[in-house]
Amino acid sequence: MILTADCILPVSSPPLHHGAVAIQGSKILDVGDMESICRRYPDLPLRELKGCVLMPGLVNAHTHLELTLLRDRLSTVDDFISWLLALIPAKMKMTPDEIEESIRTGAEQSLSSGTTCIGEITNTLSSPRILGEKGLRGVVFLEVLGRNHIDPDEWGDEVIRRLRAFEHDPSGRITMGISPHTPYTLSVDRLQVLSGLLRKESLPYTIHVSESREEQEYFLEQSGGFKSRLFPAVGWQDHPDPIGALSPLLYLDRFGLVTDRLLIAHGVYLSPEDMDRIREAGARVVICAGSNQMLGVGRPPIRSLMQKNIPVALGTDSLASNTSLSLWDEMRHVYALVKDAPPITADSVLSMATLGGAQGLGLASDIGSIEPAKEADLIAVEWEEPRGDDPATDLISRTQDRHIRMVMVGGRIVKNKKI
Ligand SMILES: [Zn+2]
Repeated sequence: MILTADCILPVSSPPLHHGAVAIQGSKILDVGDMESICRRYPDLPLRELKGCVLMPGLVNAHTHLELTLLRDRLSTVDDFISWLLALIPAKMKMTPDEIEESIRTGAEQSLSSGTTCIGEITNTLSSPRILGEKGLRGVVFLEVLGRNHIDPDEWGDEVIRRLRAFEHDPSGRITMGISPHTPYTLSVDRLQVLSGLLRKESLPYTIHVSESREEQEYFLEQSGGFKSRLFPAVGWQDHPDPIGALSPLLYLDRFGLVTDRLLIAHGVYLSPEDMDRIREAGARVVICAGSNQMLGVGRPPIRSLMQKNIPVALGTDSLASNTSLSLWDEMRHVYALVKDAPPITADSVLSMATLGGAQGLGLASDIGSIEPAKEADLIAVEWEEPRGDDPATDLISRTQDRHIRMVMVGGRIVKNKKI
């Protein structure tokens, strides 16, 4: 198939006005100007996407779709610990049917806004199958946590057993990873087990790190709201605290967990020293600015991460801490935070939502940009009355779900707006 559009935004190269993308099977065969692509592949059927920009599908690198139905249901978000304490019982009250419905609804909302790939954190064994059936691509990370005493070997076996028990996605587009929840919700024993397991299994993994001021206080001073409010509420007050004054990131590094397979979620309080270590290890960061604002934890250090050349991805996090699963809303939020002097361009923000996400999930050789031999994960976005030669600024400022004309994952059209 050949798709033509008013403008192709490959992300990894400059925009192509009146361009075309040739697709064969699940992959991109070629990209170039309309005439030459049509001349080169005369046998491929043609589809014209008039009035549209064709670009890579969006990559939401951090979400928990099983919490989708919790939108607006948590009674208090006064501060980070109140939110955590409201989330735990709300999540426990959800029935298996509600959780599956949450995942389905979240997958549909994601596709409707042009997201083709997600980094999904889950406890639900049917999650990969459901996401695969919906047509998404992604990495599903099994969430693990706990600080109470256990036999470490038995716990490690249990983690492996749960990983193997996941219902596979027959399409093969959904792969597995692990999500050690946070440095403060895992005991030393468990972090040691995970470190060994991740070395052996060579899986991608993602950890919530440096999300809140309370997390910094706990690791740097062994004091604050985690000790006085969170741990007593969940029965963890008697368990030993980390010794010394290390940042959460450098604490994880002690266990060998800062590697090129680590995707750090949030990173609001990362220090320059943390960032140097992240850069050196080849780890990545997914920022969730909308969630950070809703929980009042602060602003992610986007500019510093970019100055250190650390790959930055975008994530919505879940609807328990955000009002939208659309990365367009997330891009608008991020762009508003960074566009002032020294400017970060709309192109950079669009790149975070596509190629940055692919890098974050370890999928950059397959997706994230329009290049020959990559998977054909593409979206067509209606581009009304372009204001100038800067499609990225136009798209970020205006795109809503109703502007998504077509969504393609692996060469297959999974959403098609009737016009
Ligand atoms: Zn999260």
